[in-house]
Amino acid sequence: MTNFLPKSIRTLIEEFSRLPGVGPKSAQRLAMHLLRSPRDKIVSLGQAVTGLKDDIVFCETCWNIAERNPCYVCDNPSRDKSLICVVEEILDAVAIEKTAEFSGVYHVLHGRLSPVDGIGPDQLKILELVKRIEDGADVSGEKGPKINEVILATNPSLEGEATALYIQKALIGFDVKVTRIARGLPVGGDVEYADEITLMRAMKGRGDF
Ligand SMILES: [Zn+2]
Repeated sequence: MTNFLPKSIRTLIEEFSRLPGVGPKSAQRLAMHLLRSPRDKIVSLGQAVTGLKDDIVFCETCWNIAERNPCYVCDNPSRDKSLICVVEEILDAVAIEKTAEFSGVYHVLHGRLSPVDGIGPDQLKILELVKRIEDGADVSGEKGPKINEVILATNPSLEGEATALYIQKALIGFDVKVTRIARGLPVGGDVEYADEITLMRAMKGRGDF
């Protein structure tokens, strides 16, 4: 970019263009929009950005982000702790939560198996999931709730399927039902972007895996 614009604006445009889904043109528009906004609006936006990582922790049960550990879902007595929905990303859990059809708890993997990108099982929260099942299988019941069903809600993509298959194999030998979210979701579609009805049908129509 030329030096036609002042440095502060150029820096902001550069930062905006690094964000996902924001091209150079949108970055310029955003920067110009902020320039025209009242100072207090900009200050509160700045505070929201700088405070983003404050007061956020990972729930050490489901690995979702939360204000406290355990998160409000894991800590909620009315959620069915014996039912775990496994998702690739936080936003997938957000999408499923919006359907208000799911009363169980989550497990966020933080990605999917992708050998080309060097992402193996150790980079995901798979061991942590197995441990939840293992702890629940402990007859004393002290380590954690007994898990009856694991719903694999990874994306219906090649990598999502591979991840689901890997987890299914890792859970063989445990007394737990493993189901796969499928019906209603298009192949190659994203759980995150599916509409609520499609997701609701997919959850209801889940089958043995
Ligand atoms: Zn949690």
